[in-house]
Order: sequence, then C-alpha cells, then structure tokens
Amino acid sequence: MNPSLINATHDPALRSWVASANLPGADFPIQNLPFAVFSVRGCAAAARCGVGIGDQILDVAACAPLLSGLAAEAALACAAATLNALMALGNAAASALRAELSRLLSAGQTAQRELLAQALHPLAGVDLHLPVKVGGYTDFFASVHHATNAGRLFRPDAPLLPNYKYVPVAYSGRANSVRVGGAPLQRPWGQLKAADQAAPEFAPARRLDYEVELGIYIGAASQTGRPLAVADAWDHVFGVSLLNDWSARDIQAWEYQPLGPFLAKSFATSVAPWVITAEALAPFRQAMAARDAGDPAPLPHLFDAADQALGGLSVDIEAQLRSARMRAQDLPAQRLSRSNAATLYWSFAQMLAHHTSNGSALDTGDLLGSGTISGATADALGSLLELTRGGAEPLTLAATQEQRTFLHDGDEVSLRARSERAGFVGIGWGHCTGTLGAATATPLG
Ligand code: CA
Repeated sequence: MNPSLINATHDPALRSWVASANLPGADFPIQNLPFAVFSVRGCAAAARCGVGIGDQILDVAACAPLLSGLAAEAALACAAATLNALMALGNAAASALRAELSRLLSAGQTAQRELLAQALHPLAGVDLHLPVKVGGYTDFFASVHHATNAGRLFRPDAPLLPNYKYVPVAYSGRANSVRVGGAPLQRPWGQLKAADQAAPEFAPARRLDYEVELGIYIGAASQTGRPLAVADAWDHVFGVSLLNDWSARDIQAWEYQPLGPFLAKSFATSVAPWVITAEALAPFRQAMAARDAGDPAPLPHLFDAADQALGGLSVDIEAQLRSARMRAQDLPAQRLSRSNAATLYWSFAQMLAHHTSNGSALDTGDLLGSGTISGATADALGSLLELTRGGAEPLTLAATQEQRTFLHDGDEVSLRARSERAGFVGIGWGHCTGTLGAATATPLG
C-alpha cells in the first residue's frame, strides 16, 4: 500500500446511506464502486453503465445533472451501453467521477437522496452485460507456479523455458471470444491426436479446462512508437476483472507448436460483469513476490523500483465447480482452488511495458489476461490440468462422489474473489460463472 495512492474514497470510516453496502463482508461497500453495464430486466435496449453499491446498481448517467466539470463529463459517458467512452477519458476523469459518487452515496449526504434513490436499481432486477467492447485481447503467462506446473507435464527436468524469467510471455487471443459470465458456452470441436494415434481426428474436445485469471482493461490509449514506461503503466489501466480462459487441452497439445495456442483458446473467454477500478485497488497494492535467489533481474526497460515495491496486487481468488447432478440435488459448489494474484512473477505494469516495448500501441478497450494464477501449494492450482496432473490423477466431488479429470457437459465453473488489507474495508469482485454446454451434434452445428 502506498500512502500517495490513498484518498478520501478509501477511508475505512465511510458509510453509505444504501444500508446493504455497510454489511460486513459486502462485495460492494462504498470504498469499491465497481462498474458494470446493466439493463432493467426485460429492457436490454436500454443498457447503460452503472456502479455497484451494496445490493443495488446506480445509473451513473442519471446522476450527471448533480455534477459538474470532468465528473459530469465522465457521468454522461456512462449513458452508453459499454464502458469504452468512460475508459477513453482516462483515469483523471474516472477519479473525478469516483470522488463525486463517493460523496453522493455517503451517509453524510442527505440533500440529494431522493433523486439518487430514483437512479438506484436492485441488482436482483437487472441483467448485467459484457462491460467493454474489447478491441484486442492478449493473454499472458505471468504465474511462475503455473508455468512450472504446466511445463513439468511436458519437460519434467526443465519445466521453465529459458526465456521465462526475461520475457512476460503472451499470445494474441481473439477479442470476439470474450463474453460476460453466464453467457452460453459450448464444448468446441477440433483436431485431437492422442499419443498412440497415428493421425488426428476431428471431434468434440475431451479435455476441456478452465483457467483462473484476472483481466486488465486498458483505459487511456498509448501511442504507436511510444513504449510505456513501467512507472507510467497504471495510468493506462482503467480497471481489472475476473477472467476465465476456457482451454481445450487436447486441441492445444496438437496445435501449439510452433506458434502457440490458437483454436484451443479462441472459442470462449468469460469475464465477470464487474470491473474494479485501478483506484479502488490502491489499498491492495503490495510488493512483488520476491524472485528466487539466482534469478536474473528484469532488463532495465521492465524494471522500476517503485513497481517492485508496489506492483503486486492482493486478490484472493477461488475456483468452484458444481456439476449438473450437484445442481439438480441443490448441493453447494465445491471449491477446487484458492490462489492469490500477489504471487505473479510479472506485474501488470511490466506486462503493459513489455506489450508496448516494440512500439505497438495499446488501445482503449484492449484486454490483457494475466495468465492462470496458481500458487506454490497444492490447494492453489488454477486449472484442472494442474489439479489432476494432466488428467492422470482424477479429483472427486465430495458431495456426489463424481470424478473429474477435465470438465463434463453441464459443469458450472465459478470464480470469486476478494481483496483485503488490514486498516481498510475489503472489497468483492463479484463472480465469473460459466456452464459448459454440450458440443453440437455435427461439426457444422
Ligand atoms: Ca490463459
């Protein structure tokens, strides 16, 4: 935590006149104010941007008449059906809006409550949509624990490739694969070739997996030919969201050499509806995880002392699985893992600096996945590939005694997260949930 990033909107003493925001453990206390795109159920054509407060969402554009200057401009941008217009204004505008929304929703504010109450909608009565029109989608590989675990399955003696501790490795994904949690998801067809098969077959993927990740949304664009310095990178981060990078391991194993993942990943990527702003995350910034003794230092263009001291982000993420049988019997989901983004080897700022280091630009609405977030322990593995050691060691769902190596049709995967810090009010990230539908009966659907 850096005192200079903390302001009145993070004050742990702040309370809201929206009573549900003050409940202990609430996802959306007044210190969070996450963005989503919503419509009152049945009125999808009227989708617009809102801010979560307790069990309500505030129609931000409806508050514009109460605001002035940059905050009013930012609020008016929230009349759109995506966050892109707000994001393009940059973090100074988002910050001005946050300060005003904090003031309007705080318990001490009484004059404008009647008008504001009309702009509040119960979350139970709204639909949440894909929050951002994603321009480009890049997925990193920033967890050294995940990279080591996945690499060990293929190269037991040398799991990490020689570039890993120098390069924040990534691949280019498909922006149109990104969908909001809850949207339909279907098992893909693809080329599969088991080790004992002479030639591949074209069939529905059998080794369907999830990946626990965070997604970083770019706000203010960078310029072509002007690489971002690590120290300036957070100015271009509008916010962060839960992300599940669905992965077909059998398609991936056959196609990935030599150019990396392609169709194994591009059929679906789920994001949570809620975007936690960079400013709301300030209390949860911390030192980067220490590099092992003997690891190389980052090259100078990827090194910044302040980023080493504050570039980590404490986000405690759980992955849960609930099979169709568990849902039918009204049994609760089973937790499969609990990992923390503070263990990542590369910081978000290093990812942005690397991404732009060849002169390519980042645009408003670009999405950068962190890569699977796994920790050092057996209960912190962020994919089934790791949990079942490539399918060799099935796990058991305790409530029904069903076994899993990879996902079955009807399985629901849900990612949930919280950020906590002593002396601050903790915040929730909502959830990113998807239920795997069966493949089409024939390749052409
Ligand atoms: Ca991934």
